[in-house]
Order: sequence, then C-alpha cells, then structure tokens
Amino acid sequence: MALRGPELPRCHGDARYRVDGAGTRAVVLPATCRRGLHRLAVAGYRVTEGNGVLRVRCDRCATTGDVDHSWIFRSSGPLANRAELDETAYSETRR
Ligand SMILES: [Zn+2]
Repeated sequence: MALRGPELPRCHGDARYRVDGAGTRAVVLPATCRRGLHRLAVAGYRVTEGNGVLRVRCDRCATTGDVDHSWIFRSSGPLANRAELDETAYSETRR
C-alpha cells in the first residue's frame, strides 16, 4: 500500500490487529492510557474509529480535562470485531 495515511498532528503510529483461528479480527489497544497514569480496563475508555483514525480515550483523563487523554493511531482495513488490551503492544511508542 503506497497510500499515505491521514495527516495527524499527534499520531502514535499504526494500530495493530490480531486475527484468531476463527477469523475474528481484534484491534490491539494499549493497556494503559496515554499519560501512563491509568489502566484503561479500570479507568474506563472509549474507542472511536473513523477516516482511518483510531482513538482510544481514557475516561479518567478526559474527565479531568487533560488534553493528552487519547491515543491516536492510524487504522487500516475493515473495522475490528473486538478490542484487546495489551500491556506491551505499544511499549516502544511511549517515550
Ligand atoms: Zn488516563
């Protein structure tokens, strides 16, 4: 694919996907929020996808008004059927 993704001011890379033996497509999400303060499974999160952009918002950070409340990834392909939280999937993204 030579197509360029959308221009994103604060993009954290490409979204990752996993496909299991049954062909179910899951999008892999970071287990902790963008600021590294909350575990998303505990704090609550919202995933939105559109126009090739996948956003993972930490409910806790969004509630406190922090501007850095969301991960922003380039998404590709069909919409995933479900989401998986992964502790290490994006560990090199966080610096
Ligand atoms: Zn948070």
